[in-house]
Amino acid sequence: MFAKLLIANRGEIAVRVMRTAKRLGISTVAVHSDADAHALHVAMADESVRIGPPPVRESYLKADAILAAAKQTGAEAIHPGYGFLSENAEFSESCAAAGIVFVGPPPSAIRAMGLKDQAKALMATAGVPVVPGYLGEDQSPKRLAEEAERTGYPVLIKAVAGGGGKGMRRVDTKAEFSAALEGAKREAASAFGDDRVLIEKYVSRPRHIEMQVFADNHGNAVHLFERDCSLQRRHQKVIEEAPAPGMPVAMRARMGEAAVKAAQAVGYSGAGTVEFIVDASEGLKADRFWFMEMNTRLQVEHPVTEAITGLDLVEWQLRVASGEKLPLAQDAIRLNGHAVEARLYAEDPQHDFLPSTGTLERLHLPDNLVRVDSGVREGDAVTPFYDPMIAKVIAHAETREAAAVKLAHALEETQIAGLRTNNAFLIRALKHPEFLSGEIDTGFIPRHQAELIPPKAEPPEHLTAQAALFLVRERERAHQSQDPWDRDDGFRLVGEALESVDFVIAGKRKSVQLVHRHDGSLEIVGERIASGSHVNAMQTTSGDIAVFERGETWMLPLYDPFAAADIGGSSADRISAPMPGKVIQVLVRPGEAVKRGQPLAVLEAMKMEHTLSASADAQIESVDVSPGDQVNEGAIIVRFATEKSKAA
Ligand code: ADP
Ligand code: ADP
Ligand code: MG
Repeated sequence: MFAKLLIANRGEIAVRVMRTAKRLGISTVAVHSDADAHALHVAMADESVRIGPPPVRESYLKADAILAAAKQTGAEAIHPGYGFLSENAEFSESCAAAGIVFVGPPPSAIRAMGLKDQAKALMATAGVPVVPGYLGEDQSPKRLAEEAERTGYPVLIKAVAGGGGKGMRRVDTKAEFSAALEGAKREAASAFGDDRVLIEKYVSRPRHIEMQVFADNHGNAVHLFERDCSLQRRHQKVIEEAPAPGMPVAMRARMGEAAVKAAQAVGYSGAGTVEFIVDASEGLKADRFWFMEMNTRLQVEHPVTEAITGLDLVEWQLRVASGEKLPLAQDAIRLNGHAVEARLYAEDPQHDFLPSTGTLERLHLPDNLVRVDSGVREGDAVTPFYDPMIAKVIAHAETREAAAVKLAHALEETQIAGLRTNNAFLIRALKHPEFLSGEIDTGFIPRHQAELIPPKAEPPEHLTAQAALFLVRERERAHQSQDPWDRDDGFRLVGEALESVDFVIAGKRKSVQLVHRHDGSLEIVGERIASGSHVNAMQTTSGDIAVFERGETWMLPLYDPFAAADIGGSSADRISAPMPGKVIQVLVRPGEAVKRGQPLAVLEAMKMEHTLSASADAQIESVDVSPGDQVNEGAIIVRFATEKSKAA
């Protein structure tokens, strides 16, 4: 086994790899960008090396800087984690040339599986079932449209170099094809520097079921059962589980064989995942699954496999990379219980899941009942430079339902303030009767969108009361006085002190009255809350009160008499960039009348395209950006004509 390992990654996966390395007595080297100088993965490592400024191209994707760090520190091996350089064959070759072990498959296997079209062609030859479609050389829009027609709608356009659900468009009719092709190519070019696409039949009632495989350098290959990753949003995994609900034993055996065959066909070694698309329109059937792609790395959702097998996949990776044989033979690998994982992200479901950046002013994740894999601590920032994942939370239990309930419960105990998260959305998905029944497919989230993302409600009365109670107690603490009679900021009312806390709710001032009783208790006028009652709230640096209830964070802005002019007004006179990014398209012109929901511009941020739409019917007064512009968060994209400007 190696004595020293460099982890060429950041965040939760770097931390997770280090945890196993430490347990195995391997000393660890972290690499980091300037933005991560104080990150958890750096704090946890035995040594760390700065590799560059925040952008990934100048740091975590800089192969030479990472290799230099390995040489400088004497690391014998590099674990690439997932993303970044993990599926980069040249990097793996450079490691070998430098005499450093790349913890992953041989470069030839990465290459064979790197492009979806080649991988599919190879798999078809190896006798693995593949999704019908077009893999062709001819990339002319005309030919692609013809092939889509021949394949039969609905089809899926996929970037051949794709990953992370990017560069992918479902097309239901011929009329939509050319616009979808344009979008897929644009996204693919910007994310992968390769705009080639393939066409696939869109499988009906699709389920994503993947097999974890492992191979060593001694000719052994096994699978570690399947994971079901059907709960997706825009082709990206949200909730994953193992085993797949309703998986027949015969189908598991068949899929396991196909996956092992796929790995062997490319001379695989180490951890890999073979992803299959399954037609579940008549339940799970052993002849209704097709190869989609192979990910030649450790997968984000590997913890659910670890939970049901009791194995440490990173340990296996390190053992195989150091030349050992696979620790177990196929028949010694057992499946125990059920595990579910949720990806907790800094993103805003109310605004089309736009990534949300900021400081984690509060981060409380319960880790007594569940496994939490996280790369951030309270006080850390989520920046626009990297993936906005806060944590993966994994529950394991005897049954699927028990695991889902346990996970939902853990998320309900979670408290996060400082940015928006998908936590409440995850809880609703986990508690949804259709999810609990196991009737899942990749359409689950879009189908239940309205229930999973209800319109933002005003904070209920009892929460404003809680927030007021919290604030008064905080003030008391600040005054360092336990005696309400000493106070000079409360009224005296028949021997009792009256206080009022004012919030801004639904654009209006809302007062909450509290009374200090003789006995020292505090009471909300009109609602009795025992003075000893526990309130889960905090004041954020913005001055707002955050109240935590069942995994939901309610933000209550305090009424500021000096800013009173703002109340009732709104920022509805403009659309600003919700995050830093690049303007890809401008879809409106000054003077144009637009309808609520109408797309105005397309912004590319965090490698994804985000459409900015009108929040109400309006008339465009000005367009403040042009395609290609790099904009900062808050930059004005378009202005709407207001009553005032119309009159002028
Ligand atoms: P997995 O297939 O392992 O579940 P995903 O499909 O969610 O992973 O994502 C595919 C790949 O894209 C993963 O390797 C993931 O780490 C990577 N990825 C997604 N977003 C980013 C990002 N912002 N920076 C680096 N890698 C990313
Ligand atoms: P990526 O490299 O981005 O992970 P995949 O080929 O693995 O791309 O596909 C991502 C997701 O898109 C799948 O998990 C699945 O939900 C959906 N998908 C892919 N191919 C098909 C298909 N032929 N029919 C239906 N859904 C599909
Ligand atoms: Mg995939």
